Amino acid sequence: MKKKPFITLEKAKEIAEQYPTPYYVYDEAGIRRNAENVYKAFAWNKGFREYFAVKATPNPFILQILSEYGCGCDCSSMAELMLSDACGIKGHKIMFSSNDTPVEEYRYADQLGAIINLDDLSDVKILKATLGHVPETICCRYNPGGVFKMSNGIMDNPGDAKYGMSEEQMTEAFRELKAGGAKHFGIHAFLASNTVTNDYYPQLAEELFSLAVRLKKKLDIDIRFINLSGGVGVAYKPDQTPNDIFKIGEGVHQVYDRIFKPEGMDDIAIYTEMGRFMLGPYGALVTRAVHEKKTYKDYIGCDACASNLMRPMMYGAYHHITVLGKEDLPDDHVYDVTGALCENSDKFAIDRKLPKIDLGDYLYIHDTGAHGHSMGYQYNGRLRSAEILLHEDGTFSMIRRAETTNDYFATLDFCDVGKKLLRK
Ligand SMILES: *Cc1c(COP(=O)(O)O)cnc(C)c1O
Repeated sequence: MKKKPFITLEKAKEIAEQYPTPYYVYDEAGIRRNAENVYKAFAWNKGFREYFAVKATPNPFILQILSEYGCGCDCSSMAELMLSDACGIKGHKIMFSSNDTPVEEYRYADQLGAIINLDDLSDVKILKATLGHVPETICCRYNPGGVFKMSNGIMDNPGDAKYGMSEEQMTEAFRELKAGGAKHFGIHAFLASNTVTNDYYPQLAEELFSLAVRLKKKLDIDIRFINLSGGVGVAYKPDQTPNDIFKIGEGVHQVYDRIFKPEGMDDIAIYTEMGRFMLGPYGALVTRAVHEKKTYKDYIGCDACASNLMRPMMYGAYHHITVLGKEDLPDDHVYDVTGALCENSDKFAIDRKLPKIDLGDYLYIHDTGAHGHSMGYQYNGRLRSAEILLHEDGTFSMIRRAETTNDYFATLDFCDVGKKLLRK
């Protein structure tokens, strides 16, 4: 399937007049339609809630749009908790899913009334000692170990993952938590990442629901929710079929009725913590071709680099590229599309078939709405770009400004050199 940008060349230029490239642009209409669909797909479950994984796109304007549909925040650091709090998203609308957690973050999460999700058995004692009590509602993260294999062949390797506890540890954790005063329990697991299949959640649900039945029987506890966490993927490549959230919701529904109904446990809420699926396709990095070089290969240099989008450099991730205005031209050239970092791995695409690119062309890098801008950094003194929200009526506004050298030098503000630089 041909991947279609959500902006035209004209819109890209119009935005660039106010906010020079590179910039991130987000499609508000797409974000809203998708959030609505997620809630429709799980409408069969009374307590359903999506806790948006803040790390994917930690922008208050985005968090507030999602919160209109009932989404909460999945946080895993002090800064993410602060952001959620400042956006008015508090209490049980925060899921605090972290690991190697500093105790002051437990304290703050508890003050906000967040649901705390413990990653390890040892965290039970740490939490109790830190707070002086056990929260009434508490969650633990499960890891079955081994290999998680799906019917369609996709697999991931929970046995190698640093997260979660074994079933024995979960049992012990819940026992200790119950003894400490916990009344309502949740089970969480994240077993495979970026799954492009409608089977992942249903199959994960099967494991977690059965575990819930066993733990309830063994410990006589009130299991309130199952948190299916993130991992629902995005069709980054044109030949992939995007996930169908309605099929996913219906798949989980069937497993729910089969496992929970006979046990009288069909009042359990389903939670999700999707990041990528909520925002990935609804964000794009727009950059211009500023340099062309021919040596042993043909290179197109852009005004964006890995500081703006790390995924290709970090994981060799594929991001589709459309040359705006040349959508209908044949892909009869082969380029490496590069950034300016002094790192040879700073390439958005390698040996990519594209139409002939001219200097000044606008390149639209697809599916960068999640884990895109947020993963950026400042290496080489290359700074992070602005974020722009394209509204449903075609107008747009800035939702984060571009960094300046003042941001880069801000942490030197205590010394003379820093002060000199910051005055500029
Ligand atoms: C990163 C993360 C998510 C979101 O993952 P996606 O792949 O973006 O859906 C959800 N939960 C936890 C605990 C995470 O660390």
